[in-house]
Amino acid sequence: MAAERLVVIGGDAAGMSAASQARRLKGPDELSITAFERGHFTSYSACGIPYWVSGDVEQRDDLIARTPEEHRARAIDLRMRTEVTEIDVAGQRVRALDRDSGETSWTGFDKLVIATGARPVRPALPGMDAAGVHGVQNLDDGQALLDTLDRATGRRAVVVGAGYIGVEMAEAMLKRGFEVTVLNRGEQPMATLDPDMGRLVHDAMDGLGITTVNGAAVTAIRTGADGRAAAVETAGASYPADVVVLGIGVEPETTLARAVGLPVGPHGGLLTDLSMRVVGHDNIWAGGDCVEVLDLVAGRTRHIALGTHANKHGQIIGSNVGGGYGTFPGVVGTAVSKVCDLEIARTGLREKDAHAAGLRFVTATIESTGRAGYYPGARPMTVKMLAEYRTGRLLGVQIVGRDGAAKRVDVAAVALTAGMTVEQMTALDLGYAPPFSPVWDPVLVAARKTVTVLRKAGTA
Ligand SMILES: Cc1cc2nc3c(=O)[nH]c(=O)nc-3n(C[C@H](O)[C@H](O)[C@H](O)COP(=O)(O)OP(=O)(O)OC[C@H]3O[C@@H](n4cnc5c(N)ncnc54)[C@H](O)[C@@H]3O)c2cc1C
Repeated sequence: MAAERLVVIGGDAAGMSAASQARRLKGPDELSITAFERGHFTSYSACGIPYWVSGDVEQRDDLIARTPEEHRARAIDLRMRTEVTEIDVAGQRVRALDRDSGETSWTGFDKLVIATGARPVRPALPGMDAAGVHGVQNLDDGQALLDTLDRATGRRAVVVGAGYIGVEMAEAMLKRGFEVTVLNRGEQPMATLDPDMGRLVHDAMDGLGITTVNGAAVTAIRTGADGRAAAVETAGASYPADVVVLGIGVEPETTLARAVGLPVGPHGGLLTDLSMRVVGHDNIWAGGDCVEVLDLVAGRTRHIALGTHANKHGQIIGSNVGGGYGTFPGVVGTAVSKVCDLEIARTGLREKDAHAAGLRFVTATIESTGRAGYYPGARPMTVKMLAEYRTGRLLGVQIVGRDGAAKRVDVAAVALTAGMTVEQMTALDLGYAPPFSPVWDPVLVAARKTVTVLRKAGTA
């Protein structure tokens, strides 16, 4: 019997996890696997780009988990620099363009995986494509930025965007010896936090010597006589720049899928069922940054471009196409990042999400430390907690602080997933010894305070 044919579009986290997992379950005589990647790299960690640019990670190749040769040695026919330009759903085939030779060809499939990722938002403003303006979406982008940094004669960096990529790149530029200005369109940096917690990030960035300008919507990149970026313009000001780094978010890359009418949700991502199968299409799966995921707390879909989800999606898709079984129930919205020694974490709903979901809630914010107060090196952290009015159900947690602040959010992520109340959380048996936490862990202190607030509101 002829082997079943699996075609994968996109050769990074979701796509190659799917291909690898399918190959673990089925050998080449049962399943042929062809994967298309239009870029120069496969199985790379975009997440590591800020740390490569900063110099914390020495070499580009440290960010590559598996080379094309390694995939091919496992009987995955990986075609690099080859872009899928069309999906023929009824004919069960894809058309691909070899970007080096210019040749196109069709490849048939029995099962198709779409893992085309996301594309960076790049507003059509004057000067956006000038030399010296850099995105950081993939390893080519990272290399181009490093080349600019090596050549730069001045030391002024302007980072556009203050989401997690913006603040991580601000740190990278600082470590590279640049004077850094971050232009943020919003009220505070890190819009994934409530503004009161974002303010803490702003103040800490100030303390690190990073200038953050809030409410600064970019109108143009001004170029110099040499055509290179020379300044970033906003409505009211001009910020001189020797290099400009863009971190203004991404949107799902679903051009191919939309062209053939595959279903997309309100945020532009493909819609899948629990097994990551595209809704209404038995033989097509999709995962990673090109799909929407179910927010288990808010009960609606969202687009969240994170590698942690993409890898899980790929693993689940690979299991399902390889004859096993896996499901992805959804997310609670957990994310961590840092700027220098300041750690930033969030999970669940912010105040505005809870309002949008029509929930009534209370909030509590506490200050604590990451170790016992008397233990050397204890540093402050702030924890904000949201709980549902009347039921006391945990809705969200945000943490800003140092020394182990970020990963504390994982306790809250588990509590959210389990649907715990803040009262139940106060009794969690978390580890304690002075070097690791105060006797009451900051998350437990926040839960206790939230219970008090609920009681005062007459509901707990
Ligand atoms: C600077 C930066 C830092 C990040 N840090 C973190 C972090 O700390 N934690 C975290 O969880 N996530 C982080 N992420 C996000 C994470 O990298 C992505 O969520 C993850 O890479 C998504 O994987 P994916 O496979 O869905 O998409 P991608 O990694 O974007 O891969 C999609 C691939 O498909 C290829 N492709 C697209 N269309 C076609 C086509 N038509 N034909 C052939 N190939 C095609 C693309 O070239 C690309 O290689 C970061 C991202 C960036 C940019």
